[in-house]
Amino acid sequence: MKVLLVEDEQKIADFVISGLAERGLQVTHCDNGNSGLAAACEGRFDAIVLDIMLPGRDGMSVLKALRSAGVVTPLILLTARNELGDRLDGLSLGADDYLAKPFYVEELVARILALRRRLAGDRQNQVQVGHLKLDRISRRAICEGQEVELTTREFSLLEYLMRSEGQIFNRRQILEQVWGYDFDPSTNVVDVCIKRLRGKLASIDPQGASLIEAVRGAGYLFKAAR
Ligand code: CA
Repeated sequence: MKVLLVEDEQKIADFVISGLAERGLQVTHCDNGNSGLAAACEGRFDAIVLDIMLPGRDGMSVLKALRSAGVVTPLILLTARNELGDRLDGLSLGADDYLAKPFYVEELVARILALRRRLAGDRQNQVQVGHLKLDRISRRAICEGQEVELTTREFSLLEYLMRSEGQIFNRRQILEQVWGYDFDPSTNVVDVCIKRLRGKLASIDPQGASLIEAVRGAGYLFKAAR
């Protein structure tokens, strides 16, 4: 898998390059926005990791130019800590994910791999993990051969978690991706929806409720039944 890294801080670039290489990912590094944009337009990369603060051309401008040139390579933005504005601008300009600095290279690798799985899933009409199958056309969920009646929101939430099986999503990510909220409504809508979903899965398969696991202080993840 080939990854383009556009990052001007050598120290960060070095740890990302060695971390990704250790996991068998091949990295091409550019240290400014202009060369990054040129490489992204020319090269065939499976993913792009793009810093926002860059000399030459900043990350947002690189992202905008790429998407308007029709380059749809999956892209993860590296943002300064808690820069909500940057994150939202980035997502609206066509970034697929973001990661706040400082980060662990393991998390970046997980995000890159999850993104690839998620985008591969976008081209498929069915998502299946273990005994649970989702049909994206009819929006039906089938568990152990029986249909689980889900609302539109429950279906979207389940699909989102199943697409990146084993990855933990926090409430904010779920609110953004499933509800389309760019703010925290300070309610427990996510928890309530998860609870309902678990109840419905459990009504068909006694182990169904354990498919969605809560990780204290971190969020939720989908785990295939053993
Ligand atoms: Ca930078």
